[in-house]
Amino acid sequence: MTLDPQRLRIEGTYQQKQPGYFMQRVKVPGEVLSAEQALKVAGIAERFAGGLLHLTTRASIEFHWLNEENLAEVARMLAAVGLTGRGACGGAVRGVVCGTPFLEGFPTTQVLARKLHHHFTQNPHFEGLPKKFKIGVDAGYRDSRHLIQDVGLVLAGVNGGTECYDVWVAGGLGREPQPAFLLEEKVAGERIIPLIEAIVTVYQRHTPQGKRLKHLLRERGEEGLRELLREELAGKGPLALPDGFAKGLTAPPATSPPRIEARVFAGELTAPLLRRLAEIATLHAGGFMVLTCEQNVAFHPEQPAGAAGAATLLAAAGFSGEAKEERVTFQVCPGSHECRLGLAPTRDIARELLAAMGEKGEALSWAISGCPNSCAQPQLAEAGIIAVKLVKEGDGGRTPRFDLYRRNSAEAFGIPVRQGLTRAELIEAVRELG
Ligand code: SF4
Repeated sequence: MTLDPQRLRIEGTYQQKQPGYFMQRVKVPGEVLSAEQALKVAGIAERFAGGLLHLTTRASIEFHWLNEENLAEVARMLAAVGLTGRGACGGAVRGVVCGTPFLEGFPTTQVLARKLHHHFTQNPHFEGLPKKFKIGVDAGYRDSRHLIQDVGLVLAGVNGGTECYDVWVAGGLGREPQPAFLLEEKVAGERIIPLIEAIVTVYQRHTPQGKRLKHLLRERGEEGLRELLREELAGKGPLALPDGFAKGLTAPPATSPPRIEARVFAGELTAPLLRRLAEIATLHAGGFMVLTCEQNVAFHPEQPAGAAGAATLLAAAGFSGEAKEERVTFQVCPGSHECRLGLAPTRDIARELLAAMGEKGEALSWAISGCPNSCAQPQLAEAGIIAVKLVKEGDGGRTPRFDLYRRNSAEAFGIPVRQGLTRAELIEAVRELG
């Protein structure tokens, strides 16, 4: 091993659980991937990652099982189609997500997300942060993803001719979940970048190494954080925003059918299937696809002929939406299959749970995280599972224990309803749901 794993993080590269292997995460600006980029990604997966890629709950792409000697070539291949892993791991502004690709405002939020990606990625002023910094831009409040961002922007209409956003800050999941609080309503587009710059700067100056912005919120309180921001913003005006060609890369989402998507179980996609999806994007969706936070691939064709064509080709590619694996929304992190911190084989367990669940279970949204870091966002699902610890058994081996969370719409996050379950007890608990 010649490369320092700590220094690789800023490039989006982590060591895997399996010694000698690496994971490369790739940012997808605004969740929009072109057919050309998809073909390059498929090529990388085939050459270096066993023909597989993982779609994350933040609409990024991960390649697993890379060797150290592959990393530079993978970075070059990504750069050739305008993609990068820079800042996708480590203390940096992570991939900017648009969590609501099926809402009407998606083309608008996509433009802002891409702008923010270009502004903060590889910008030395916003790297070297105490820990990760997550930004999300949503077209509405559905799914509540604004609550788990360091900065969550929610489209709040048009004010004085420009779009404006409600700004939520200091949210996060992990071991100490903290819902974001509403910093300011209806902030004009020209103030968004100066405001986020101030938030990142305050975070960098006042938060201990290894802690998220939510730590600063707990330490200083809401008013204390507001005061730090006021000081940071003093004298800073809005940015002049020249008019330009600011159209989204995709058409607005379809209304009928409401969703045209390949539902990818646990975010595990093969390279040949991605090639098929790239073909569908080229033929029917203006050359673009949308990666969703539910780990699926959506298409926004021009209506109505494109929608029918895309749906027909998706069904032919095996994405008819009829299989149980496609019907049930189930967000899954890589867990101990690949992740160094994983305590349990999440994909295997998700399949066992699917097999055990009945109609009532199928109607819920599910998520399973392989450790308390909560990358699968289990506290946002109607039914969430976290592998919380390993317990030594009589035979000397160690087996995981799980907490089961349930969430109703009145709560910011789900709460644990069963704790310390063995794998068999977890499956039984899911079977009992019906
Ligand atoms: S939740 Fe834990 S196991 Fe899963 S990807 Fe995140 S860090 Fe890894």
